[in-house]
Amino acid sequence: MKEKILSLIGPFFSLASPGAVRGRLSILIYHQVLEHPDPLRPEVPDVSVFEWQMQLLKQHLCILPLDDAVRRLRSGTLPRRAVCITFDDGYADSTKVVLPILQRFGVSATFFIATAFLNGGRMWHDTVIETLRHFSGDWLDLSDSLGQRFLTGTIFEKRRSVRRLIMLLKGLSPTIRDAEIRRFAAPVADRLPNDLMMTSEQVRVLHQAGMVVGGHTATHPIFTTVDLDTVYAEILQGRLMLEDLLDAPVTLFAYPNGRPFYDYMDEHVNMVRELGFEAAVSTTSGVATRTDDYWQLPRFTPWDRVPERFLARLLLNYTKTHPDVIRNTL
Ligand SMILES: [Zn+2]
Repeated sequence: MKEKILSLIGPFFSLASPGAVRGRLSILIYHQVLEHPDPLRPEVPDVSVFEWQMQLLKQHLCILPLDDAVRRLRSGTLPRRAVCITFDDGYADSTKVVLPILQRFGVSATFFIATAFLNGGRMWHDTVIETLRHFSGDWLDLSDSLGQRFLTGTIFEKRRSVRRLIMLLKGLSPTIRDAEIRRFAAPVADRLPNDLMMTSEQVRVLHQAGMVVGGHTATHPIFTTVDLDTVYAEILQGRLMLEDLLDAPVTLFAYPNGRPFYDYMDEHVNMVRELGFEAAVSTTSGVATRTDDYWQLPRFTPWDRVPERFLARLLLNYTKTHPDVIRNTL
C-alpha cells in the first residue's frame, strides 16, 4: 500500500516543478543527522530516517549542488523536479554520518558553517540541551533570573524544559543570554561535550569530497539583535575564515535563524548582496522561482518521519511561491 502511494505521488513532481524558465527550486534544510535517536530531541533525524529520505529524493527528484542550481535558476535552465540539500551550523556529524550517505547515493549537499564554533566550540542551544541532559535533580531553579523553575525529573520533563528554556533565552541579547547559560551550566560544565561541531580539517574533507561550503557568520547572531557593524563583521569574518581554510571562494550565505522580518531585515539582505555573495538562503518555506530574490531564497525543513507524508509535503512545498519576498533580482 505504502509503495503504491509513493508511486502515485512520484509523477506529480514533474507537473509541480517544471524546468527551464518555469523552474521551481526546492531547498531542504537539515542541521544534524544523529547516529542514534536522541530521546531529548526526537525531531532530529537519525541515520535510518536520513537514508530513506535520500533514497526517495534520489528516486523522485533531481538533486543539484546549490551553487549550480542557483546559476541554472538564473539562466532559465533548471531541470524539472530540482531540489538541493543544505545543512546549517557545522555539526561534526556532517562528515561522520552525513557524508558517507551522500556519497553512497552520489549526491551533493551544501554546508553553511558558523566558523567560531569549529574546533571544540559549542552553540548556546546545545549547551542548554547538554546541561539538562546531564542535570540531576527534579528541577532547575531559575526563578531569580528568568522567573521560572524547569522540571527535569524525567526525560519527558527535560525535553519540555529544553524547548521552553530555549524559547525564553532566544529573546535575550547574546551577552545576557550567554552569561545566564554559563551560570546554570556551571555545575555540569566539565561533562559537556566539546566535539559537537566540526574541526577545520573536517570542513576541508567536505570540500575535497565535492560538497559546497557556505557562510553562516562567525558566532551565529540573530541579525536583528545586534547592530549593523557587528553583522558586517560577522558575515565577513565567517567568510574569510572559510576561504582561508579552503583556499576557494565562498559564494553562498545562510542567515542565522533565517526568518525574514524577524531575524533579518532588508538592510542585512543589501549587505550580503553588496559583499558579493551570489545568493543567500532564508528559512521561509516554499520554492524559489526565476524572478525571486536570490539573496532570500526560501528553504523547507523536511520534518516528516513517514515516507509518504515526507513526499506529499515536498510536493505541496513546490506549490508555494513567495511574492512577499520578491525583489528586483534578474
Ligand atoms: Zn544556523
